[in-house]
Amino acid sequence: MLRFRRNDLYIERVKLSDIAKRYGASIYIYSKNQLVKNFESYKRALVLRDGLICFACKTNSNGTILKLLAKLGAGADTTSGGEIYRCLKAGFNPSRIVYAGVGKTAEEIKYALKNKILMFNVESFEELDAIDKIAGKLKVRANISFRINPHVDPDTHSHIVTGKKGTKFGIPYEDAIKAYLIAKQKKNIVIVGIHSHIGSQILDIAPFKLAAQKIKKIIDSLEKNGIKLEYINCGGGLGIEYKRDQKAPSPKQIMSEIFGVFDKNKKFIFEPGRSIIGNAGHLLARVLYRKVSGGKSFLITDAGMNDLIRPALYEAYHEITPVKKTNAKKVKTDVVGPICESGDFMGRDRMLPVIEQGDYILITCAGAYGASMSSQYNSRPLLPEVLVDGNKAVLIRKRATYEDLLLNEI
Ligand SMILES: *Cc1c(COP(=O)(O)O)cnc(C)c1O
Repeated sequence: MLRFRRNDLYIERVKLSDIAKRYGASIYIYSKNQLVKNFESYKRALVLRDGLICFACKTNSNGTILKLLAKLGAGADTTSGGEIYRCLKAGFNPSRIVYAGVGKTAEEIKYALKNKILMFNVESFEELDAIDKIAGKLKVRANISFRINPHVDPDTHSHIVTGKKGTKFGIPYEDAIKAYLIAKQKKNIVIVGIHSHIGSQILDIAPFKLAAQKIKKIIDSLEKNGIKLEYINCGGGLGIEYKRDQKAPSPKQIMSEIFGVFDKNKKFIFEPGRSIIGNAGHLLARVLYRKVSGGKSFLITDAGMNDLIRPALYEAYHEITPVKKTNAKKVKTDVVGPICESGDFMGRDRMLPVIEQGDYILITCAGAYGASMSSQYNSRPLLPEVLVDGNKAVLIRKRATYEDLLLNEI
């Protein structure tokens, strides 16, 4: 939903430089229509089966975005009590909320049980014991799936692989049957499904299919042991096209491979995050200064690693575009932020035209793991967020203030 009209870059029908004028920059900007389109493509792909598309809300937990997805019929994939709270506030039906994470606290488990979420995705034997005990005290029964680590190694950055042998996630593949047999004996536990999530930014279909085949084997042996599962949760992880030469499979392609592996009568859960909101959001950054140092050209922007940590954390690549077309000559440029860390860069060795002080650049596809991972490091107030729908731009988070920096200090 980004395109140039004459010399200006627009998101939907709003000129980006107009958003900067009105709300200031740096600022996060989302396209409502791109977001809806991404969600609908999952929903359409699922019509062949019963189930839920649970938005992984750690990717972007702005209340307006969550509310929009809840209205479209999404469920939520949560990883903390705080996320469950946000999702309930945004109007998600608790019967559509699933909860994963290797370190759920007793308070979080209690909170989830009291709010009657759909299920816990349990990641260790000790967690199972804790949930059983707490449910007993509350006199309720807890619905669970085990998150199984299928020992599949998708080709993605090592920090975002979760389904490989030796990561902290899930129950090891070889312990899966044992886990279900133990759970079956627990008084306050109801076994409802199986879960796996192998990693993120995956652009191949093969690892999804391989994980599904390994999960199918577990389901077959469970059935021989008299344990029937209602839900198969295939996790999230589908990648997006950060670079022009990347090609992401569609939800439909992934799902039809997965559906081919399992029986028709199961309910399916998918937990996409990045592929719902990633390419619907962008970071508009103001150019503060330019300089040449050690033979290198630097563009110093007001947006730093506290606002978008992905390049520093995962060496992630985001396309960077000036919001005004120019015929100026392109030079190799490092785009960096104002933070006192050499890891504080938005992009390195980019061919960019000379951009004037006070102009704006757009760091694209920053909707997932952008604002939600931001911090106040260097005492920088959190950025505002805007949602664009056609020719309307609405503020959905105010720019934080210096007073906000002191919130809760005593
Ligand atoms: C992060 C996460 C997801 C979402 O992953 P994406 O790559 O953003 O689609 C889904 N499920 C679980 C359990 C997660 O931790």
